[in-house]
Amino acid sequence: MSISGVDSSGTTSQSQSDQSDQSVNESSKAASNDSDQLSTNIRLESQYCAANYSPLPVVLSRGEGVYVWDENDRRYLDMMSAYSAVSHGHCNPRLVKALQDQAAVLGVVSRAFFSEGLGTFLQKACAMTGYQQALPMNTGAEAVETALKAARKWAYQKKGVADNKAEIIVCENNFHGRTIAVVGMSSEPQYRDGFGPFPAGVTIIPYADAAALEAAITDNTAAFLVEPIQGEGGILIPPQGYLAECARLCKKHNVLLICDEVQTGLGRTGKLLACEHDGVKPDGVILGKALGGGLLPVSLFLADDEVMSVFTPGDHGSTFGGYPLAARVGLEALRIIEDDGLTENSATLGDYFLEQLRAISHPSITDVRGKGLFIGVELDPKIISARTFCEMLMEEGILSKDTHHTVARFAPPLVINKEQLDWAIEKIKLTFERLD
Ligand SMILES: *Cc1c(COP(=O)(O)O)cnc(C)c1O
Repeated sequence: MSISGVDSSGTTSQSQSDQSDQSVNESSKAASNDSDQLSTNIRLESQYCAANYSPLPVVLSRGEGVYVWDENDRRYLDMMSAYSAVSHGHCNPRLVKALQDQAAVLGVVSRAFFSEGLGTFLQKACAMTGYQQALPMNTGAEAVETALKAARKWAYQKKGVADNKAEIIVCENNFHGRTIAVVGMSSEPQYRDGFGPFPAGVTIIPYADAAALEAAITDNTAAFLVEPIQGEGGILIPPQGYLAECARLCKKHNVLLICDEVQTGLGRTGKLLACEHDGVKPDGVILGKALGGGLLPVSLFLADDEVMSVFTPGDHGSTFGGYPLAARVGLEALRIIEDDGLTENSATLGDYFLEQLRAISHPSITDVRGKGLFIGVELDPKIISARTFCEMLMEEGILSKDTHHTVARFAPPLVINKEQLDWAIEKIKLTFERLD
């Protein structure tokens, strides 16, 4: 059964007037070669939700820890973790309690007022990452936009760049989110096509090439924005020392180094921040995804006073950014990372997982790479597409998602234990055997 099959049958079978679920299901079923009755949830989502995704044909209805269950109560081990937003595991009890407790007391007030808990949350985030201040937003893309605004204003106010001349350097194959300014920095045609015009002042250089960075820096360069590991780009890991060299060059030329750790941060790669692998403290760091504990969108841009002081009241904001519910859940998410040793677990089990995956010998595997529980298996598209491989994994009870067509991603919640991981490794091996 394919989602495009659902789309066409749903569209052709439905008239303008209402039809009963029963009749739509029957016509969908008739149009599909699959003998399963199409899920009402798939049918409705396909019909009413804009088609900006192409989900695997499974309907998830509940989750607990590393597992999710579909509407037929079939269990899957989640190797996708909502692009690392679910590092704490699904419905982590401490986070659910924090959310419920706070929701019963105070939810949203806006930053027009001080609110109990926001300061404590940001103090914790600053203490853990070593920055002086943080600006709270909701989604990762908003925090990236915040970083860009900070960098530009810093360039005008502190570096002395002429008005409207500030430049940002980014890398080919980057992923920083989906807003217009952010896709304007993308090198991926599909992310950009049809969405222009884009803001000016962006230079794109090859990833993992420090010499290209130095060559691209001009007197107007405000910042170099980079992912320590390119996640959506295919779990691409630059050579050891790359980020350290970038940091040196940025310092030399008075350019801000800003690391987008929305996906790599908060323990995912076996360090709290992935830039620690290279001993680097960037001028600014962007966090999101796991910061919301798998329950809410919570993001931050973190920096020291030198950068953050460019913001004055009214410059920038968000109705929900740092709202009491987010602050409470974000604080608990950070505490759990420490209390439960999630970063250490990611390092230890990540090494083990990588070793086990590398031991699988199959002609379709062209590369296995990763850091911590952030692993990509590159597949030869002439043998199997990553999408088909992920569909086969799903049949074995493992949910994953291809990235960049040829890479199967393995990024389970960081609360996973060795027994659960060993079960997954057996299923992954079995899937490769089934390919033969
Ligand atoms: C997911 C992601 C973003 C965007 O986060 P959203 O919450 O989807 O806006 C930005 N940067 C990186 C590296 C990401 O992986």
